[in-house]
Amino acid sequence: MILKAEGIVLRTFDFRETSRIATFFTKEHGKVSGILKGIRKDSKKFGSSLDLFSVNDIVYYQYRNSDLHLISQCDLKQYFLSVRQDLAKTLAATYVLELINKIMPVEEKNIKIYQLLLDFLGSLEGAKDVHPLVHGFQIKTLLHSGFKPHLDTCIKCGRVITGRAKFSMHDGGLVCLQCPLSETVVHWISQGTVSSILHIEKNDWSNCLKLHMAEATRRELKYILNNFLVFHLGRKLLSAKYLHA
Ligand SMILES: [Zn+2]
Repeated sequence: MILKAEGIVLRTFDFRETSRIATFFTKEHGKVSGILKGIRKDSKKFGSSLDLFSVNDIVYYQYRNSDLHLISQCDLKQYFLSVRQDLAKTLAATYVLELINKIMPVEEKNIKIYQLLLDFLGSLEGAKDVHPLVHGFQIKTLLHSGFKPHLDTCIKCGRVITGRAKFSMHDGGLVCLQCPLSETVVHWISQGTVSSILHIEKNDWSNCLKLHMAEATRRELKYILNNFLVFHLGRKLLSAKYLHA
């Protein structure tokens, strides 16, 4: 079957002497991988050089028994030049690509995640500080991929939590001061951080970027999100290093 899609390049690697394998996150079919035969021998064969986080129109033959398809056409649609000219922005974009590649299952359409990627890259172009964008992206990715943390009540007893609470990485949510944790390490979370996460979950992309956070809240948010993602993905992302900057 021949399929068309619009996709963002998540990763690429060289294959044999002249080909390259690319993974896209597509609007129509979710995460799709395919081989572009001869792309390294003839640079004019495809209308794209497959740069990371570029948006491309692709045409591919879908193989039924394989996750790797044959890409026959690939044309560049959007390049995000100003992101590429800035190291911090390039690293932030690389991190979100790795996150999406790890968290999203193969060929499962998710239009909200696709739009989130486009919104993130678009905002990144004019951004002064990349961190609020990365935090917003992490929270919305958890929300739209089925890993939304439970933040309304205690995950153990259902009690409404008003002040400081424990955040259980294992159970994915808040645990009140009276209930025991399922894990040995205690991660504390303040009401301000909980409110910030809920605000970002409830608001659209442009509104959630307007949220002003105290430095302590921002630090706690970063700590909780990074640990929660590492717990769920089973390992650290290679590109997460920049988040310490
Ligand atoms: Zn409780």
